Amino acid sequence: MRSVLHIYRADSQHWVGNGFLVQPLFSHMGEDRGSDPFLMLDYASPKHFPADGIERGVGAHPHKGFETVTLAYQGEVAHRDSAGGGGVIREGDVQWMTAGSGIIHQEFHSQAFAAKGGMFEMVQLWVNLPAKYKSAPPRYQHLPKENIPVLNLPNAAGSVRVVAGEYESIRGAADTFTEMNVWDITLHSGGDAFLRIPQTHNLLLVVLRGTVSINGNEQAQAGELVRFDNNGDTFRLNASDEEAKILLLSGVPINEPIAAYGPFVMNTQVEISETIRDFRAGRFGHIGAA
Ligand code: MN
Repeated sequence: MRSVLHIYRADSQHWVGNGFLVQPLFSHMGEDRGSDPFLMLDYASPKHFPADGIERGVGAHPHKGFETVTLAYQGEVAHRDSAGGGGVIREGDVQWMTAGSGIIHQEFHSQAFAAKGGMFEMVQLWVNLPAKYKSAPPRYQHLPKENIPVLNLPNAAGSVRVVAGEYESIRGAADTFTEMNVWDITLHSGGDAFLRIPQTHNLLLVVLRGTVSINGNEQAQAGELVRFDNNGDTFRLNASDEEAKILLLSGVPINEPIAAYGPFVMNTQVEISETIRDFRAGRFGHIGAA
């Protein structure tokens, strides 16, 4: 049985641009959280925005050496990047962007969302790339809701949306560079699920809604991050008397040195210096006209 090592709660929130009020649940700066191969997770918990037509968000900024994954739970984000990628991430959609060798992108509330306002809820996850793929060509995988497989858990306990990886031999929608699972789990009120994740994977859960009991002896609430040990491969989740939403992240750790500077995550300080130089020299391209 995999046991809970620690349950963390975000102790702060901050604005990313003027569109995303996020709670950071882990980052590569906090090695205690055992998140490898995941670098960072920011949760924009449900928040209401007015119908004022203002497209709030973050203007053009670079990334290199990893992937950014945006899961839209409520609201819409419009994206454009220097590799020619672009589109709207709607409720239930996921965007899996490989920054790889270097990309510039912008992320704003969509025009339609800004016009009608409403509740907004997103997760942004950073996934590391091993050294040999850090200079992979930039890529944009738009994973619309209808392309993400949804599987029912046994005993009508709920369902699993397989964003990446595999559940019961069904492959997830995303193409990834290393072995991992990203599952968006819904547990019905009182739902009881017995899950299996190989002990070669680091394992984290983010509780987005409700309260979840783990292995019958630990409880995690909305906004909390659960870190498991690697002693075994099975664990149990029980939802309380309300529905629970859980984001499961697991993956084989990359186990390479991390040198990070803001939006750049490489293996050495020399590579970071080179990246800053290349970015300043305009080698990441630019976001083209619409
Ligand atoms: Mn970004």
